[in-house]
Amino acid sequence: MADYDYDLFVIGGGSGGVRAARVAAGEAGARVALAEDDRYGGTCVIRGCVPKKLMVFASEFSGTADVANAYGWNMTSGSFDWSGFRSRLNTELDRLEDVYRSLLKNSGVETFDARATLKDKHTVALSTGETKTAKTILIATGGRPVRPDLPNADLGIVSDDIFHLDTLPKSILIIGGGYIACEFACILHGLGVQVTQYYRGAQILRGFDDEARGLIAEAMRDRGIELHTGTNIVQMGPASDDHSGPVPTASDAAMGASAQQEEIMAYGGVKDDAQGDRTGPVWVKSTNGREQVFDAVLFATGRDPNSTDMGLEEVGIEVGRRGEILVDEYSKTAVDSVYAIGDVTNRVNLTPVAIREGMAFVETAFKDNPTAVDHSLIPSAVFTQPEMGTVGLSEEDAREKEEVEVYCTSFRPMRTAFAGKPDRVLMKLVVSKANRTVLGCHIVAPDAGEMIQLAGVAIKMGATKEDFDRTVAVHPTMSEEIVTMRTPMRTA
Ligand code: FAD
Repeated sequence: MADYDYDLFVIGGGSGGVRAARVAAGEAGARVALAEDDRYGGTCVIRGCVPKKLMVFASEFSGTADVANAYGWNMTSGSFDWSGFRSRLNTELDRLEDVYRSLLKNSGVETFDARATLKDKHTVALSTGETKTAKTILIATGGRPVRPDLPNADLGIVSDDIFHLDTLPKSILIIGGGYIACEFACILHGLGVQVTQYYRGAQILRGFDDEARGLIAEAMRDRGIELHTGTNIVQMGPASDDHSGPVPTASDAAMGASAQQEEIMAYGGVKDDAQGDRTGPVWVKSTNGREQVFDAVLFATGRDPNSTDMGLEEVGIEVGRRGEILVDEYSKTAVDSVYAIGDVTNRVNLTPVAIREGMAFVETAFKDNPTAVDHSLIPSAVFTQPEMGTVGLSEEDAREKEEVEVYCTSFRPMRTAFAGKPDRVLMKLVVSKANRTVLGCHIVAPDAGEMIQLAGVAIKMGATKEDFDRTVAVHPTMSEEIVTMRTPMRTA
């Protein structure tokens, strides 16, 4: 048997990689090494879930005084101190990165602060010039934001950049309609930025339940976000000093407007390694003919797997159209000694999923217990304002499969209705007509993410509508409606 430096070499110190490395070392007693070329903790901790959620919390305070005053308080909102918040945020992220480093160290994982690529089926080449061999290699390199292939796109920022802004822009154009675009639209609006959002599709949050996303779009508009669907940008450039139009650039001259339009409409996306000069206002022309100047433009137009220039194809690993590493149900690639988990496989790109895939990998490869990852009925949240919690099938997807009954209610929640606010919440169950199983649950409400975690347990257990009905309501709450809806709104 070949003598390797390690039993396992993990490439990528994010959610999935760190969990797999420390469980393989700590629980399975494997000799493990891990390479990380940026910061430990990865996307979730450094430039995703964690800093974003802290920004959600920060942004929600802007509405507090209004509501509190209706309850008899005498509060004024004051102003938001971005640099004070950002410095606390950085301190917190430094602390968390240290926690991740310590977790690895305390589990006996050897770490390399380096970029790693594959040299052969058992060998990793590090950017330090070293090579290391391992019986098994795990690729957990995550993904990165992409910019549209549009001249001057480097004048825009991507989600990674938000957390490093020196000052908050006064106005921003957000391009995209996915959860990251919508969350940042709400966050920045809450922090006092004038937000315009363009999405080329007919409705934001594609893939989620139609009624739920419709309500969120309406609430975002009601709160003052200028959301334009069916709209895209066709041209952008640095704004002239008087903000009246673009400063002509070399790339404008090299490419006619119609060619530029075709490119942005294709939304193909290019690698985000063009860190251009992003200071100064940006002039934008959109498909609706409007020309406007924004202090910043944020591209939230998708993410691609980090799989390029890693020597994958040379070793025989197969990748898909977007660069995702193709794996079987046990996360094994086309090469027996190499596995891949998390966003780089582009299955379900969420932190808890990457972690589960990491743990299932350790069971399979190190504990003689082949474990396939269960990707069904994953609860998730969209941290817009209002928030959405969702699990299972949307009404539209369920209807494609079988006949369903839809139970749905929308109302003004007590807390803000008392303050005269127009906010509405939505509670919805999609139920199989044949066997009464709850196929999907969709909640739009403050703290919907907290609610859906618990509904997710029941639905994962196969709860029927009658199981929900048998459960006594918790009163007075918003979520009690989920167990008190008696009559289907429609059968479809
Ligand atoms: P990552 O966490 O991306 O880790 C990959 C690591 O590999 C990175 O640290 C990278 O630097 C490193 N790396 C890459 N290439 C190499 C190389 N060649 N050599 C060495 N190291 C390398 N998910 C949720 O569940 N809830 C949320 O609310 C949520 N919000 C999000 C908000 C934003 C703005 C973003 C961008 C993502 C969000 N996500 C959320 C998604 C979540 O962050 C990812 O699904 C998760 O981080 C994926 O984990 P991973 O281990 O696959 O990759």
